[in-house]
Amino acid sequence: MTGVGGDPSAAVPTYRGSVDAADLGWTLTHEHLFVLFPELDREHPHPEWDPDAAVASAVRGLEELFDLGVRTVVDLTVPGLGRSAELVGRVARRVRVNIVAATGWYTDDVLPPYFRTHGPGRLVGGPDPLVEILRRDVVDGIGETGVRAGVLKAVTDAPGLTPDVVRVMEAAATVHHETGVPVTTHSNPALRNGLDQARFFLERGVPASHLVIGHSGDSTDLDYVLELVDTGATLGMDRFGMSHTGDDTTRIAMVAELVRRGYASQLVLSHDSAYFSRITPPSWRRTNAPHWTPDHLSRRVVPTLRDQGVDDAAIETMMIANPRRLLTAAPVGAVR
Ligand SMILES: [Zn+2]
Repeated sequence: MTGVGGDPSAAVPTYRGSVDAADLGWTLTHEHLFVLFPELDREHPHPEWDPDAAVASAVRGLEELFDLGVRTVVDLTVPGLGRSAELVGRVARRVRVNIVAATGWYTDDVLPPYFRTHGPGRLVGGPDPLVEILRRDVVDGIGETGVRAGVLKAVTDAPGLTPDVVRVMEAAATVHHETGVPVTTHSNPALRNGLDQARFFLERGVPASHLVIGHSGDSTDLDYVLELVDTGATLGMDRFGMSHTGDDTTRIAMVAELVRRGYASQLVLSHDSAYFSRITPPSWRRTNAPHWTPDHLSRRVVPTLRDQGVDDAAIETMMIANPRRLLTAAPVGAVR
């Protein structure tokens, strides 16, 4: 078992190859570079989508982040959200920030038809392609890029634990056990469903030290958040600046309260931002969520947390030690 801050000599896969956990530094654990829609992008491209311009804007943004002290960004864009390791790779080669890739499948309800016919007991049969995809991304690398995914992601939302959502979660748990790679989620805290996720993964032996319940920072319900903390999982306070799902004043107060209660070692802070997202394109963001950018924590949120009594040690725990612990693979077979 690794210590509180993870094994600093362990290696974490990034777009530039393995990086010593000790060198990850200040880390944003839940961001996106490009959220796309490949089927539409091919024949019905979004008017604001220009791959070269998007790459240039991501390069500019990440270089600015480096100057603000950010050293690592986890790109949680997985298949189902239009992940393109090729495009992110183009960015990664031009920036100083480490970028960690993720795998999984983004659906809160059903998987595409391909998965319905493939897998044990299904029409075409064979092994579960979902497990194969996740395993290949983590072990061999994504496509031809050789970039290994360092995080597994699963999603639950209003439809709950549908059969296909459970299939994704089972695949993530399976590949976690084979590789030790951490699991992170998209939850809907208004529905308190982070608790279902924590229960699911803990029951399957994913250690709490390597489990993040994402979007927990959108909760305004301290009782729910404390129940989540009690599971031992880490809470993703990861939507700073995302004004359409909550306000930062409340998010900051929640973080300050949890730190005051001694839970800094179970919090990670991030934005869930993107340089381009077809879901909420750049022009919409500029008008409706102007601070929903990955420099927001550095420029505004962290200084405000300090004003509210969150000390440097707690900030470093949340921004450096916890991500290092999470991203350093858990020892395989050492859980349960
Ligand atoms: Zn996200």
